[in-house]
Amino acid sequence: MPLQIITSVEEMQNYSSVLRAKGKTIGFVPTMGYLHEGHAALIRHSCLEADITIVSVFVNPTQFGPNEDFSRYPRDFERDCHVAEEAGAAIMYAPTVEEMYPNGYSSMVLAGKESQVFDGVSRPGHFNGVVTVVAKLFNAVKPHIAVFGQKDYQQTLVIKRLVKDLDFDIRIIIAPTERELNGLARSSRNVYLSEHDRENASLIYKALTAAVDARQQGEKNAHSLQAIMQKILMTIPHVHIEYAQAVHADTLMETLDFSDDNSIVFLVAIRLGTTRLIDNFVWHP
Ligand code: AMP
Repeated sequence: MPLQIITSVEEMQNYSSVLRAKGKTIGFVPTMGYLHEGHAALIRHSCLEADITIVSVFVNPTQFGPNEDFSRYPRDFERDCHVAEEAGAAIMYAPTVEEMYPNGYSSMVLAGKESQVFDGVSRPGHFNGVVTVVAKLFNAVKPHIAVFGQKDYQQTLVIKRLVKDLDFDIRIIIAPTERELNGLARSSRNVYLSEHDRENASLIYKALTAAVDARQQGEKNAHSLQAIMQKILMTIPHVHIEYAQAVHADTLMETLDFSDDNSIVFLVAIRLGTTRLIDNFVWHP
């Protein structure tokens, strides 16, 4: 079946209501487009879990700060349709900004406590924009399951909180991070990087794996684990390290020393020139 493109909220809702009435399960993969292998993996995952997979492409202005890259965010809708179809999606939902936020639009959803640290601090208002658009997309697509990437670890916690607190009847699936051969996490923003920057950015992966190895070998002190990441990240030319931290995986809370049974997430955000890159690794006991 060729990919069908839907651009209006009403049409999307009607289409999903018909699917539901026919007893079909709907899988949903929300994206900001410029699809890559990471997105394709989420789509394939959804296809395994649901009868019909709907992908959305919407560059959401309300999750970008005034000095961020909204206007220059990479876009290639034709290619996105091709990637989504190849990966098994049946529907591409691509509303315009005017369709999502028409004249008079004035409501926002407030993101929960997991949004108060890390990217919530460096990108004020970002997670409120995320949960608002995700809630709107859920109401348009009416999925049974929705697949998100571990690449945006804090976002996965914020979305799970949204779904739990607002009683969305949707199962959230978190799929692993897809990486380039050198370990760099795939991201639409990698297109901003020169070949040289991409090589340097692979040190993020080295920093994360070095910290995981240290924990595996028994290091439980958060500062020591963080120092391991910092030392490697500091070798990247012209890097600005926003954070490189080891915190509790389920709450993002800091601690001095982890205990044997703590799951840990290692979180990194750096800027290379004007490009902001994030990545993470989770370690389970
Ligand atoms: P984005 O288009 O960057 O907003 O991402 C849309 C979805 O794809 C989010 O759930 C991301 O976490 C996920 N995603 C982005 N990059 C990757 C990746 N490298 N591996 C797995 N999932 C990803």
